[in-house]
Amino acid sequence: AAEAGAGYSDLEISLASGKRGSRYAHISELLSQVTGADAAIVVNNNAAAVMLVLTALGAGKEVVVSRGEAVEIGGGFRIPDVLRQSGATLVEVGTTNRTYARDFEAAAGKNTAAFLKVHASNFKVTGFTAESTLAQMVEVGERHGIPVLHDLGSGALLDTAAYGMATEPMVQQSVSDGAGLAMFSGDKLLGGPQAGIIVGKAELVKLVERHPMARALRVEKITLAALSATLIPYLKGTAPEEIPVWQMISASAESIAERAKNLLDSVDGLTEIAELRDSRSAVGGGSLPGETLPSTVVAVTPPADAESLLAALRSHSPPIIARIEKDDILLDPRTMLPGEDAPVAEALAAAIRA
Ligand SMILES: *Cc1c(COP(=O)(O)O)cnc(C)c1O
Repeated sequence: AAEAGAGYSDLEISLASGKRGSRYAHISELLSQVTGADAAIVVNNNAAAVMLVLTALGAGKEVVVSRGEAVEIGGGFRIPDVLRQSGATLVEVGTTNRTYARDFEAAAGKNTAAFLKVHASNFKVTGFTAESTLAQMVEVGERHGIPVLHDLGSGALLDTAAYGMATEPMVQQSVSDGAGLAMFSGDKLLGGPQAGIIVGKAELVKLVERHPMARALRVEKITLAALSATLIPYLKGTAPEEIPVWQMISASAESIAERAKNLLDSVDGLTEIAELRDSRSAVGGGSLPGETLPSTVVAVTPPADAESLLAALRSHSPPIIARIEKDDILLDPRTMLPGEDAPVAEALAAAIRA
C-alpha cells in the first residue's frame, strides 16, 4: 500500500498486453481464488456495496426480504431505507421471529428482482425462531430465475467456531450455497482496509460493475494494494499468524498471561497498585455481539481516580487507550500488536509518575 501510494502502479494497465485494463482485474482474480466466486468488485465500504447492488439489480422492481432481517446495522444504515433509496420496492415476508422458504416462494413474482438475505450481525433473536437458510432461498430462487443477494456483514474467511466463538457465516459458504452476489466488509473480520467487497456470479458482477454508481463508489490504488496484501495470507493459509485481528483472536492463553506478567513486572512500582486478573476480551468491535475470549489482564487500582490515569495514558505519545472495569484500569495484552509491549510499559510508567 505504501509503495502503491508513493509511486506508480499497474492499476489500469495490463502488464502482459500493455493495453488498458480494468482496475478490478487483479483483485477480482485474488478474491475468486480465496472465495471460490466467479468474479468480484470492490467499493468504498459494505454499506456502499449493498446500496450499489440493490440499485443495479433492484431499481424499479421488488426485492424480497425476511421481516426478521429488515434491520438497522448502525449509523442510520437501515435495510428498508437503503432499499427505498435504491429505487427498489421492499417486499417483507415472514415475521420478526420466523420466516420459512415457503414465504419466499409465495412472494416470487414477475416483478421480483432478487431475494435479499441480511446477516443479523448486531443482535440476536432467541426463543421460538425459524430462519430460511441461504441454500433454501437459492433453491426457491433457481426455480423462479431469481438471484439471491447475501449481505454477510463481517465476511469471515476463517471459521470463528474453530476459535471458540459463535459461528459467523463464511464467504466461501455463501458462494458454494449459490448466492448470486455476496457483499461484505474489508475491515471487520477480514482484517484489511475499509472496503466493501462484492463477489458472485460473473454476469451479476458485470451488471454491477457497469452501473454508473460503481464509478462514484470506486476505491483507489492504495486500498486495492492493502486489500491484496491482506488476501494473500488467506491464500497461503497463514492468515491467523499474519493478520492482526486473527493474531489477536488466536493468541494462546499462555502467551497472553506471559505478556501480562512481563508488563506488570517491567514498570517500577506497578506491582504495588496492580495485579494480574482473569478477564474477557470483547471481539469484533460491535460486529460480533456478546462474543468474548478469555484473557489475562493487568488490572491497575489507581491511587487517585481512574479517569485521571486514563487521561494521562491517552495524552501519552503514542496514546494508550485502556478500559475501566469497577474503577480499575484494565490493560489487555491480547489487543497489543507485536512490538507494542515496551511502549505500553513506558506509557504506564509515565502516567503513574504524572
Ligand atoms: C457492518 C455491516 C454493514 C456495513 O458495512 P461497512 O463496511 O461498515 O459499511 C452492512 N451490513 C451488515 C450486515 C453489516 O454487519
